[in-house]
Amino acid sequence: MTRRLGVVGGTFDPIHFGHLDAAEAARSALSLDEVLFVPSHDPPHRPVDPHATAFHRFALVALAIDGRPGFRVSDLELRRPGSSYTADTLRSLHGAGWRPGELYFVLGADAFAEIATWREFPGVLGGAHFVVVARPGVTIDEALARTPELQPRVRAGAAGVATAGTTAIFRVEARTRDVSSTTIRARLAAGQPIDDLVPAAVARHIAAHDLYVESSLHGHSKDIQGS
Ligand code: ATP
Ligand code: MG
Repeated sequence: MTRRLGVVGGTFDPIHFGHLDAAEAARSALSLDEVLFVPSHDPPHRPVDPHATAFHRFALVALAIDGRPGFRVSDLELRRPGSSYTADTLRSLHGAGWRPGELYFVLGADAFAEIATWREFPGVLGGAHFVVVARPGVTIDEALARTPELQPRVRAGAAGVATAGTTAIFRVEARTRDVSSTTIRARLAAGQPIDDLVPAAVARHIAAHDLYVESSLHGHSKDIQGS
């Protein structure tokens, strides 16, 4: 039997319902056995505080998926020094025994729209199936229009799967919640609640650690308590 592993990369700064909806939509559209969330490193030239560290971002993902069977969080990119690229991450999974045809890299339409700028494009597309999930404000058609040369690889649904040994691009026309991490950070900076945007445990952890809030005590990473 073929195993099917979904992989969701991102900064998750913080994770929110849009990420969980996209993962769930991909899982049900493509019958994925498990979905692995892979938080990325802190970018080398981070804009500035008050974004959360990789430690807190990892913790927030773990809290968000607690109690959701089949969802897991991976420290793969965090254990590897330097910036990580999806091509490297997929290679690590190949090294761990996954074949490209068993991996489904899940991303939003906004992210897929930038695919031509990715390290090792277009070769990276051979490392996994790519699953493009619609995102409020960016349709799948808009995302795919940027790379017409990829059209022959695009499949409408799981029915079109993949002859053994090749990888494809799948469209998932789900309605995910209209949430972004940018919106959440802005709300927190303005002292507004985020309870409708993230799971309760995520909101509690953010509040308990003063994440995303400018504060003389906690706001800067050079502080011992820095967020
Ligand atoms: P930021 O505003 O900081 O860019 P974000 O909300 O876009 O944060 P990311 O961590 O950048 O979150 O996204 C990780 C992945 O999740 C990307 O592939 C992105 O397209 C996808 N994604 C995020 N939110 C949604 C959503 N609401 N619907 C569908 N896909 C989403
Ligand atoms: Mg984003």
